[in-house]
Amino acid sequence: MTGRTHDLAAITALGVVFLANPINPIRLSTVIVAVIANLIGGITPDLDQPTAPFWRNLPIGNIFGRTFGKLSGGHRFLTHSLAGVALIGFGVHWLLVFFSPVMGQVDIGYVWWAYMIGVVSHLVMDMFTKEGVPLLIPIPIKFGIPPIKRLRVTTDKWVEHLLIFPGLLVINGLLVAVNYQEILEIMRRIGSSH
Ligand SMILES: [Zn+2]
Repeated sequence: MTGRTHDLAAITALGVVFLANPINPIRLSTVIVAVIANLIGGITPDLDQPTAPFWRNLPIGNIFGRTFGKLSGGHRFLTHSLAGVALIGFGVHWLLVFFSPVMGQVDIGYVWWAYMIGVVSHLVMDMFTKEGVPLLIPIPIKFGIPPIKRLRVTTDKWVEHLLIFPGLLVINGLLVAVNYQEILEIMRRIGSSH
């Protein structure tokens, strides 16, 4: 899947989880940082590709990208496994705790969850692609949805552009339509928590 699809999937997953578990007053600063973290989480597993947008946008990103890719075992290896998700989770938790003194009133617990929802949504989306995902590394089995490879999607091809991406947009539209009153109420509460 492309970075754009991963980010839309990440924010969709965040929306679903958030609306299913309405949380009490939450600050606007927490919402903003959590959404950014969620979007970064959505593309984090693909940092193992030297061509990842994140690396391409850095001046010497290509070298870093290649090094990181080698260290993590190449594309769709460690960062696309449950062990990798756990490692990323620990690492990001440590980073958030480290930076929490400069993060003001931002609730880093919510930020961590939003980030991890992004990471997990990435693996789920990649399972719909032909390559599958090696969830149980070091056991080299690749998992996909559906299990028959032929029925899965090729990244950056028409099924992704014409069905998956628009499909995610429709899901977001439905989420907003179905939960409209609740969303208004949440926004009112965010507005009044300052
Ligand atoms: Zn990926």
